[in-house]
Amino acid sequence: KNVSAPTTSLSQNKLLGGLLSGAFEESSCQSRYKSSLYRKQSPFPLSPYLVQKLRKYEAYHKKCGPGTKRYRKAIKQLKAGRNVENSECKYVVWFPCNGLGNRMLTIASTFLYALLSDRVLLMHVAPEQEGLFCEPFPGSSWVLPGGFPHNNPQNLHIGAPESYVNMIKNNVIRNDDPGSVPASSLPPYVYLHVEQSRLKLSDNVFCDEDQLVLSKFNWMILKSDSYFAPALFLTPMYEKELGKMFPQKEAVFHHLGRYLFHPTNTVWGIIRRYYEAYLARVDEKIGFQIRIFPEKPIKFENMYDQLMRCIREQQLLPELGTAEPANTTADAGKVKAVLIASLYSGYYEKIRGMYYENPTKTGEIVAVYQPSHEEQQQYTSNEHNQKALAEIYLLSYCDKIAMTAWSTFGYVAYSFAGVKPWILLRPDWDKERSEVACVRSTSVEPCLHSPPILGCRAKREVDVTAVKPYVRHCEDVGFGLKLF
Ligand code: GDP
Repeated sequence: KNVSAPTTSLSQNKLLGGLLSGAFEESSCQSRYKSSLYRKQSPFPLSPYLVQKLRKYEAYHKKCGPGTKRYRKAIKQLKAGRNVENSECKYVVWFPCNGLGNRMLTIASTFLYALLSDRVLLMHVAPEQEGLFCEPFPGSSWVLPGGFPHNNPQNLHIGAPESYVNMIKNNVIRNDDPGSVPASSLPPYVYLHVEQSRLKLSDNVFCDEDQLVLSKFNWMILKSDSYFAPALFLTPMYEKELGKMFPQKEAVFHHLGRYLFHPTNTVWGIIRRYYEAYLARVDEKIGFQIRIFPEKPIKFENMYDQLMRCIREQQLLPELGTAEPANTTADAGKVKAVLIASLYSGYYEKIRGMYYENPTKTGEIVAVYQPSHEEQQQYTSNEHNQKALAEIYLLSYCDKIAMTAWSTFGYVAYSFAGVKPWILLRPDWDKERSEVACVRSTSVEPCLHSPPILGCRAKREVDVTAVKPYVRHCEDVGFGLKLF
């Protein structure tokens, strides 16, 4: 009798081909092993170099992370106001900004930055984010321990005197000759403010000169609202290393996200119950993510009409018939599940009603589901964030995804899935409706909304997409950049 595949390849599968560490206790975080069973296999091969790099990082994190002698020493020096030479451990402390989708994109970007610049990633976990994610690094923690001296988020803003750009402007530090700056002459930490308007020309810090100075700080505090991974690819000194880690650049968030983010058992319970109840046994799953942004409100009728146009033009759902189909077609009786993620219930009500009241031409059955409708975004509610995370995951189990332009919530979902979404375009600023209903994304990477400009000091207005073969402008954000 043929015995099943060797255990090594079985466990390799479970660990997503070596992406995940085998050093965890399985029951402590079930989603780490179970989530991938709800998806098709990743279409993006993993580079052995990235796997090696992750294992090395895990060892470094364990050596320098919270609870270690080295961590205590580094905190002591920070408190004493000293930036010592040749420190064994360097840190980057992530602070939150905006909603969950934004946070996941910036955590992944900061982690990539930590990998490239040899820093330990620590997270300031606000109460609304507690208990959402499992620890990703074995034998250690990525949660910034209490007692960190500079943990007031109010002080992290564009005008902060500790911000790198302000320190340069105020001549506290210099970046014109990085080689000559002794680490011990620097302040005990640097704040890197990587927010939208700042990711532009004059304050662009993704250049070799700046990165060389920044690398001398033992402590870095970082706050960002942007998926800045593409900017790291545009930094000459990181380009080669990134090429080895990601031979397929389209899969950066896809791999890093699947490595870092694992819902805790509580959140996994929500996901699993919903999936098993409504999605596990259907023939096809189609996700619609409808997000209305306060800065660009769109009337319900207009958004609904755009979604319907997209569905029709891209044939995402079966057409309605006038009578029950007499001849059974090949697809008759097949069940298509529509999963809707939205703060509002209107889209669900209408689509469900449509397929309740009318037959389909093919005889296919359309089942429409929406896990929650929270009505309003709540930045500070933990329960609200649990649902948001659950819905990002549920969307990521869909075979096809249509999402609202500009939404990081949607970006995370399709990137996890490894599925190129249809993007429901935003109307021009002076219009209420978009002429084009939706376009297919060319990549499963998220979009960086405010790109840096190439050649930092040169301040040349070069379109990076003309120079770098691995970035394009985003379908939904014309000036934005995405890897592909
Ligand atoms: P973005 O603003 O669309 O880029 O996405 P973010 O995730 O950064 O912020 C939006 C926040 O609003 C989410 O984190 C949720 O808290 C909430 N939200 C938006 N859409 C949905 C949804 O469809 N379902 C749930 N549960 N929450 C949502």
